Amino acid sequence: MLELEILKTFGDVDTESSFKKITTIRIGGKIKYLISPHTFEDLKNLLAYLKEKNAIFKVVGRGSNILASDKDYDGVVIRLNKLDNCYFQDEYAICEAGLSAVRLSTLAMNNGLSGIEFMSGIPGSMGGLVYMNAGAYKSEIKDVLDSVFVLKDNELVWLDASECDMSYRHSIFMENKDWIIIGCKLKLNKGVKEEIKELINDRLNRRKETQPINFPSCGSCFKNPENNFVWKLIDGIGLRGYRLNDIQVSEKHPNFIINNGNGKSEEFLSITNKIKKEVKEKYDIDLNLEVEIFEW
Ligand SMILES: Cc1cc2nc3c(=O)[nH]c(=O)nc-3n(C[C@H](O)[C@H](O)[C@H](O)COP(=O)(O)OP(=O)(O)OC[C@H]3O[C@@H](n4cnc5c(N)ncnc54)[C@H](O)[C@@H]3O)c2cc1C
Repeated sequence: MLELEILKTFGDVDTESSFKKITTIRIGGKIKYLISPHTFEDLKNLLAYLKEKNAIFKVVGRGSNILASDKDYDGVVIRLNKLDNCYFQDEYAICEAGLSAVRLSTLAMNNGLSGIEFMSGIPGSMGGLVYMNAGAYKSEIKDVLDSVFVLKDNELVWLDASECDMSYRHSIFMENKDWIIIGCKLKLNKGVKEEIKELINDRLNRRKETQPINFPSCGSCFKNPENNFVWKLIDGIGLRGYRLNDIQVSEKHPNFIINNGNGKSEEFLSITNKIKKEVKEKYDIDLNLEVEIFEW
């Protein structure tokens, strides 16, 4: 049994939260304890306490790639949003896992450093970006990743990027769910602030034109199969705009599934299963989800 007063010694504790509140798709059940540790020491102590109590927990960044179950979660969700420091040393950016990728791209621009303009519209944390090997516009975090600071088996280690098994929307962290990314070091390039700004604006404008960014979503729902695009396949099976109650395949970009208000996880999954089935029947292609389904 976890004790609220003890949990409060490790950071801010919210007992009224839900996955609906902390994920960008705005879906999911209540969370018994949502905790934001203030420091790395808080996080370590919290983990030791949870281990001692045999409590279940889930680490999240900014919840922009998670579809959580509609059921209530009787465990602890650890949000790293307070661990968001960053500094620059020569051409390197060293940051904590909770730092927003959007913020880091702006900080890098202000420091005249180029290479992460692609992440200026990705609404995740740096931990989440490394976990997912997130990318856009033919760039991925792995292109600039030098090393990752990881809490692994209760020990802090720096993993070189080459040890992180990164490929298209994949990293070693997906196979080691108990490892926690604490921070990362990125190798950037010297650039000209005005040019970096122009590239960022270009990327943001392209997003506005092509993605339903004003609606709750998890970004791209499926990974693109080799040499193909999911949005074309979904168009091919006639499901652009398809709707089940408040969950809808976006009219603007069919690989985005949006929540028009009161969508449920079950409805989201019913649509993704329908897409998978029909794409398989028509094109003999197996689609894989990019969004993580978190169930318990
Ligand atoms: C409008 C929109 C646009 C998007 N555009 C893009 C895009 O262009 N490219 C792209 O790749 N993605 C995109 N995404 C998806 C999403 O932003 C990325 O996958 C992002 O990397 C997720 O980061 P997060 O912090 O939100 O992770 P979360 O959703 O919070 O978590 C995702 C997974 O990472 C794990 N995780 C998070 N932090 C840590 C940590 N510190 N240690 C260990 N595990 C951790 C979680 O446990 C979970 O399993 C988009 C999403 C939205 C809503």
